[in-house]
Amino acid sequence: MYTSIANHGLTVKDKLIENYYILNQIVQSIDTGIAVFYEKQLVHVNNEIRRITGRTYKYLENNLVEIISKSDYFKIKRKFISVLKNYADKDEFYFNIIMPNGDTKTLRCKFTVVRIVEKKGVFAMVHETSKQCDKNQQNRDDLCSNVAHELRSPLNAIIGFSNILNDDSLSAEDRTHYLKYIRSSCVSLLHLLDDFSDYNKLQHNKIQIEEISFDINNMFDELEERSRIMCADLHKEDLKIVCVKPLRQPSSIVYGDAQRIMQVLINLVSNAIKFTATGSVTFSYDISQGNLVLSVKDTGIGIPNDMITKIFGRFTQVGTVKSNSGLGLGLAITKNLVELMHGTIDVKSEEGVGSEFVICLPQRSSGGISSGDKSSAALEFDFSGKKILIAEDARINYILLEKILSKTGATIIWAKDGEECVTLFNANPDVGLILMDMQMPVKDGYTAAREILKIDSSVPIVAQTAFSMDDERERILNTGCTDYIAKPIDRIELLRKIASVIR
Ligand code: ADP
Repeated sequence: MYTSIANHGLTVKDKLIENYYILNQIVQSIDTGIAVFYEKQLVHVNNEIRRITGRTYKYLENNLVEIISKSDYFKIKRKFISVLKNYADKDEFYFNIIMPNGDTKTLRCKFTVVRIVEKKGVFAMVHETSKQCDKNQQNRDDLCSNVAHELRSPLNAIIGFSNILNDDSLSAEDRTHYLKYIRSSCVSLLHLLDDFSDYNKLQHNKIQIEEISFDINNMFDELEERSRIMCADLHKEDLKIVCVKPLRQPSSIVYGDAQRIMQVLINLVSNAIKFTATGSVTFSYDISQGNLVLSVKDTGIGIPNDMITKIFGRFTQVGTVKSNSGLGLGLAITKNLVELMHGTIDVKSEEGVGSEFVICLPQRSSGGISSGDKSSAALEFDFSGKKILIAEDARINYILLEKILSKTGATIIWAKDGEECVTLFNANPDVGLILMDMQMPVKDGYTAAREILKIDSSVPIVAQTAFSMDDERERILNTGCTDYIAKPIDRIELLRKIASVIR
């Protein structure tokens, strides 16, 4: 360091002054308010603090206390004292200040302790919360317009082609074609909803990893078949799909959450197909150093260097590629799922050459459930001889629940509203569990649950709800329900809940 100073003919003092000016320029130009306290004294503020507060440094130095709203002042003082007395190293809080025109402004402050020689200082970073709200609003607006755009095309196709199908003069061949369009539009809509639902579940830690042992070759066969269908849907029949399966049984038996591993592979492969016009998409696996290594490689448009880390963030897309339909959630979900499985995901990419995504999932030595596929996990739940009353007004939701429960051997009764639920319970007192939708016509789930519990207080009731209100959980438990499950329903979570309370 000294050499380099000497080489430039600078003294240490010159260099310090130069560094100070550089640092000061940076601090003054950033759009975060910065205030530095040394001991208890305000010693530095940047331009942004002056802008936010509408006051000069001189004013703030002498009157800081006066601009902080009275109700917040003691809270801040307590926090500063606890920092200076070593009880905490950093903190974050919101507080109000009074602007020169008498208006109130809410600020968010993050502060950390800094040690300057032997004394202590506090480094505070301040933002206007309205700025944050604007940003959230902007994110929400972007999301809404993205969703509207993504919904519009498949819905248009469904409505448009359904209308054409009414035409009696249509040839059988055209009819088959149009039905195919309708089907693929419905599949896109379902993917969109699945992405949303998964993203939401991941955000609220509601996804559970279900590990079993399975043959990865079977999974790759299915992946290959689905890739060809994706290519056909996008009219990319010339794209070469290469599926590499280097191991044979028993070496191809791996351990993990088969459903989630398939989901992340489909995300990567569908991106690879979407962003590759000519050449190939290759997927392969290997087992190396106790890890299952999965690779999806394409010869597509590639990803610019500065976007490589950003693409794993939510709602991120590169540029405005025409073929780029999607919400920008796929990779965010993929990364979250891989991390839930204690794995890692990496990407190598070169613009115009192609990309390779590599996932590494730790393998633990065999054990656990040694069955063929995920559906067998459901077979573990045996409710034969039990009666389950499902109260659900939406037919499609009932069908879904019935499908989930059909393999368990339970007898299922369907009530289409709260009133029918009470009537059916009276007629079937041997019901072992009620699955109650809380928002139903005629009589809602809350009223029905209360009335049923008056008839038989020991019947377990599992509420199913979309949790649109913050206080809904409390309301459900206050009604006397045994448990609750959030919609969209997770199959395994539902079966587990039922198994733990059914009588
Ligand atoms: P979506 O595909 O819905 O836009 P993703 O989260 O799956 O969202 O991907 C985010 C972005 O990353 C894509 O929009 C695209 O710009 C870029 N991307 C992902 N995979 C590839 C790939 N194989 N080749 C080129 N770009 C890709």
